[in-house]
Amino acid sequence: MKKKVAFYTAGCRLNQSETAVLTDRFTRMGYQKVAYGEPTDLLVLNTCSVTENAEADCRRVIRRTLRHSPQAFVAVTGCYAQTGLNTLQHLPGVDLVLGNQYKMLLPDYLEEMSHVQKRSLTFVRHSGSMSREDFVQDGVGEYATTRANLKIQDGCNFMCSFCLIPFARGRERSRLSDDAVREAERLVERGHRELVLTGVNIGRFANGSGGILDLIQRLEAIPGLARIRISSIEPTTIPDALLQYMSTSRKLCRFLHVPLQSGHDGILSAMNRRYSVKEYRAWVERAVQKIPDVCVGTDVLVGFPGETDDQFAATCELVRDLPLAYAHVFSYSARPGTPAARLGHPVPHAEIKIRNQRLSELSRSKRARFYQQFLDRDCQVLFESVGKDGLWTGLTDNFIRVSVASSGSLANQLRRVRLTGVMEHAALGKLADADTPRPGRVPIPVFQSFEKEAVGPLPA
Ligand code: SF4
Repeated sequence: MKKKVAFYTAGCRLNQSETAVLTDRFTRMGYQKVAYGEPTDLLVLNTCSVTENAEADCRRVIRRTLRHSPQAFVAVTGCYAQTGLNTLQHLPGVDLVLGNQYKMLLPDYLEEMSHVQKRSLTFVRHSGSMSREDFVQDGVGEYATTRANLKIQDGCNFMCSFCLIPFARGRERSRLSDDAVREAERLVERGHRELVLTGVNIGRFANGSGGILDLIQRLEAIPGLARIRISSIEPTTIPDALLQYMSTSRKLCRFLHVPLQSGHDGILSAMNRRYSVKEYRAWVERAVQKIPDVCVGTDVLVGFPGETDDQFAATCELVRDLPLAYAHVFSYSARPGTPAARLGHPVPHAEIKIRNQRLSELSRSKRARFYQQFLDRDCQVLFESVGKDGLWTGLTDNFIRVSVASSGSLANQLRRVRLTGVMEHAALGKLADADTPRPGRVPIPVFQSFEKEAVGPLPA
């Protein structure tokens, strides 16, 4: 009988992309994947350490799994495994802790152990330093979603004062282009029509074959691939040539998620961000001017130590003024070992909560306003899944979530839709092309679950 493996992924899109590749490799090794929460022989926990909550969540997942599967072998990897080794290696029920340097070797370690059985001692493979070499990544991500992530980069050199990622994932390095293209081709063969380029600081992607624009141009040549989307990208790393390219490309989505973090220069400086408010403003305005109908979204961190009411008000004002389509709002959480954790003047939790709610509310109204611009217009929607309400939903290239009624499956189809209304989380539309399958389409997998958009910690 096949051994069962359950995966639990916390945190960002990059973690998701790595779990997807691990899933593929375990499947090829003969494991049967089961949903998290079902009885299992092996739990692979790909952790996050962006907040205290994320870490507590990981510990809860282990306890919960051992309650229904006391004999399950528990393998913990990811950022919490990297930064919280001392806690995890003494946690009852943990059998294996792998630091980030060794994450993608997890299947090999388990194969070496030959018996995935609970152990009296925790096996640890961990290194304080991480490779700085450009890399290849064996395998092809296994996704149950229309869109697939493609990891192209890892690590970060920027050292923002609140961020643990440079400690958890090391210095920046890039995937070799040939290897990224190889996985992309395989993902497209499997039916994925949109790829999301993923990394910690993807604007810093650079290897002997060029930068991110060179890679995008190679990916564009893959037959059957309809869309390439860039995930979060730092404002100081976006070349003008990329904006130019986005404005005319057939496949590169008109979408930019560019973390702001604060709308006050004093806080930006304390965060060790590399731009001023004026520069950020100019950058967003340039992008919107160059790329028709582009969706520009952002991340904002509220409650950074010492953030005053006036400084928070400046952030709200900037977000309100700029042509941003939405803001993902995160509450500051001190991460031991970071420079920000040593700053005084913490903002009280209750106040952080209020600030988060106020900006989140502003983000909701900005998103609705962005959607409203497209009412009565036609757009191309790549459909993903059907919801409990029976409506099919998908995304436009500029990140409008659209729901439509359809008598047949729309899974993985790119269809023309006329937008007719705006609901809280999506726009409503109706199919504007004939509601019949077109010949020559890629075979259509049916994806039943919704993909989450606002996953992930601040960066990446
Ligand atoms: S916030 Fe982003 S850019 Fe800054 S250190 Fe963290 S990963 Fe790097």
